[in-house]
Amino acid sequence: MAEYLASIYGTEKDKVNCSFYFKIGACRHGERCSRKHVKPTFSQTVLIANMYKNPAHEQFCTLTPEQMQEDFDLFYEDVFTELATFGEVEEMIVCDNIGDHLVGNVYCQYRYEEAAGNAVESLNDRFYAGRPLYAELSPVTDFREACCRQHEIAECNRGGFCNFMHLRHPSRPLKRDLQDGQRLSIREKEREARSSHRDDDDRRSSRHHEDDRHYRHRHDDGF
Ligand SMILES: [Zn+2]
Ligand SMILES: [Zn+2]
Repeated sequence: MAEYLASIYGTEKDKVNCSFYFKIGACRHGERCSRKHVKPTFSQTVLIANMYKNPAHEQFCTLTPEQMQEDFDLFYEDVFTELATFGEVEEMIVCDNIGDHLVGNVYCQYRYEEAAGNAVESLNDRFYAGRPLYAELSPVTDFREACCRQHEIAECNRGGFCNFMHLRHPSRPLKRDLQDGQRLSIREKEREARSSHRDDDDRRSSRHHEDDRHYRHRHDDGF
């Protein structure tokens, strides 16, 4: 019996735990859901709810598609760079849904749970674009499972109100730059940690050939 319950945990067959909360980290019934939303104590994933404000949803949006992408790329870079200060980011995604429980949700999956815990603690004391941030540890482990398959291949007939994630993607070069930048800065930190264990002479020589290509083109306006 226990084995059976474990195997259906968080699936549609599970009558106790909410499959939407488990898979997507947000459910349209919110606190009033008849099934349980079990908040994890430890997780690699952080949810920052309703963080991205899509200008297209404002009443008088005159931006061209190119400007919209630029606007989104700035947001993505800004947030990624900030979130990466807590630890190595494996993936960061932004929802383009318009339902209240998913609109503008940012999910960040870290390599280590510790980084996610630190991020939640710190972000809940912060503001972004004039609004307080709300962050929590999320049970979502697999973004592919959380995403709407229809939306990925064509148009989803539920539109923005779909209860699966519809993602908004940053432009490819930006994503690559951010990942490369992160890798570089991790390598640099590892080198620094190693060199601090050596004696003074060694440390001096290893510092010398460390170039300052540290990833640094963030936009300081938001946080
Ligand atoms: Zn629910
Ligand atoms: Zn959909």
